[in-house]
Amino acid sequence: MPSDPDKQQIKKRRQMTLIYVILVLLVITLANTLFGPKLEKVEYSEFLKMGESGEIKSLKFEGERIYLTLRSDENRSKLFPKLYYTVSIGDNEGLARKLETWQIDSYGAVIENQTNILSIIFSWVLPIALLVGVWYFIIKMIGKKMGNPMSFGKNSEKVYAEKSTGVTFDDVAGQEEAKAALVEIVDFLDDPTRFDAIGAKMPKGALLVGPPGTGKTLLARAVAGEAKVPFFSMSGSEFVQMFVGVGASRVRDLFTQAGEKAPCIIFIDEIDAIGKSRATQGVSNDEREQTLNQLLAEMDGFDANKGVVILAATNRPEVLDPALLRPGRFDRRIIVERPDLAGREAILKVHSHKVKMGEDVDLRDIARTTSGAVGADLANIINEAALLAVKRKHAAVMQDDLMEAIEISIAGQVKRDRILSNKEKLAVSYHETGHAMVAALLDNTDPVHKITIVPRTKGALGYTMQRPTEEKYLVTKDELLDQIAVMLGGRAAEEVALGQISTGAANDIERATASARRMISLYGMSETFDMMALESAQSTYLDGRPVSTCSPDTAAKIDKEALRIIKMQHQRAIDILTDNKAALDACTKYLLEHETISGEAFTKLLEEKRET
Ligand code: ADP
Ligand code: MG
Ligand code: ZN
Repeated sequence: MPSDPDKQQIKKRRQMTLIYVILVLLVITLANTLFGPKLEKVEYSEFLKMGESGEIKSLKFEGERIYLTLRSDENRSKLFPKLYYTVSIGDNEGLARKLETWQIDSYGAVIENQTNILSIIFSWVLPIALLVGVWYFIIKMIGKKMGNPMSFGKNSEKVYAEKSTGVTFDDVAGQEEAKAALVEIVDFLDDPTRFDAIGAKMPKGALLVGPPGTGKTLLARAVAGEAKVPFFSMSGSEFVQMFVGVGASRVRDLFTQAGEKAPCIIFIDEIDAIGKSRATQGVSNDEREQTLNQLLAEMDGFDANKGVVILAATNRPEVLDPALLRPGRFDRRIIVERPDLAGREAILKVHSHKVKMGEDVDLRDIARTTSGAVGADLANIINEAALLAVKRKHAAVMQDDLMEAIEISIAGQVKRDRILSNKEKLAVSYHETGHAMVAALLDNTDPVHKITIVPRTKGALGYTMQRPTEEKYLVTKDELLDQIAVMLGGRAAEEVALGQISTGAANDIERATASARRMISLYGMSETFDMMALESAQSTYLDGRPVSTCSPDTAAKIDKEALRIIKMQHQRAIDILTDNKAALDACTKYLLEHETISGEAFTKLLEEKRET
């Protein structure tokens, strides 16, 4: 057990009490100086003079001091400071006695015995009452947040619900299929009795599956928003951070509360955190297992037609315990895909409503440039563009703000302080021009959109952006091979032009290798292996690496075959660049001077130089 929350809480409480006590003392002191009597010291000789002139109205003995009230102070407000003059008696023993026998009467002064009630009220009672009030308020606030603070440890009063999410299906763009699948649930929550009347059994749960950032959480909230029902949500990781037993009790609480508020939605985000298959875990995790068991028990235990629908989201469906997927549990699977071109445009549109867009903005163009981006990326791009527009003092977001935002999201911010030596710059220029030229001179590649050697924070010293002309759902073997050649074009250019290779191609090589391996083992595109499925695509979500189902012997053969593909494409890139060495030099020189070239400028330049 990593830490004991009980002990931690007690410690926290002690600290709070201490702070509170200090606060009380501070406020009392403050009140006393504000409302309490103001003191002014008077010398004994002066005191005598005051007495003789009849200025003193009353005297009060207190400890070693005499407090004087003067007649001239009578007009002062009754509430606020009386000005007290004090005469210090000190160790002057005789004085006190002397004063008593003194002819105070002859001065016309009286000896005051009672203390001023008003002053006491203002300097003590009021502040204390105020502080008690504040204390009470704080306790209430904490109570609302974490249950009754006086009985921590029990979390029976926890509230997980949102009364209404305020999100509708209109806020979710480009997920038409997922939305269509969820409409049924909305209908059901609208009027559960209709289903009951016919005897239709509503599925208890639906599992939203898809890569991160595609809008799973958003969709779940939208279902609650559309149906106008409360939204109980909890993230899988919240269940398991606790010590043993708490996760399970949270599940119980969640279902009890939701049951009272039906119709409603229970949403368990990142359910893989608790629902990981028990079989695949090396070490057993008691807490997770208990939580999962409780979840299964709760799901079995309640009547679906009461109007509680359980939604869950995960981006790793393959690791889920099969028990969760059994009929009567999360038997519906709703796939939330990466958005296609139209989807991306729609998402951009939704998010651009929140910012001021300039007239030259072409969202379709942005959508085309962002193939592979998910909703979260696009939302981020719009926001980044808005920030840029502010920085550049534009009246609204312009197209080039959006374009720059895309580059920021892909490659990071421009890093001006990274100074490359001229030699390095030349190598980077050749490298990027190499990518661009191979891309431009092969048939099955996407056109070059931009080449730049301006370093960015995400590590790239330069990069070449290609932009697909159309959305592709299928990629052919020729296209894959050409893509590999383009990836290796950078390294090839360094070899052809400089006769020297650098570390700059590491990422290219990694990607090319991965692509070549996938061609063999996943897509069945190699001569040697034909169409044997060697890896299961199922688990690609895990960490991007497919799980291999072949013997070590075969694995070695795959490596060999991948190497052959890479070598072949590398040679192709070398040939293209050698044949067009003059153009390579010219384009590189141009890039070195301008740092950034647009796709059009590059294509034009390349055409010119190839002819000569
Ligand atoms: P997930 O749960 O799948 O990881 P989220 O639902 O948390 O993704 O999405 C994060 C953010 O990205 C959302 O709050 C929203 O702003 C944006 N977003 C994602 N997908 C979409 C979409 N399809 N339409 C509109 N916005 C989206
Ligand atoms: Mg999410
Ligand atoms: Zn490269």
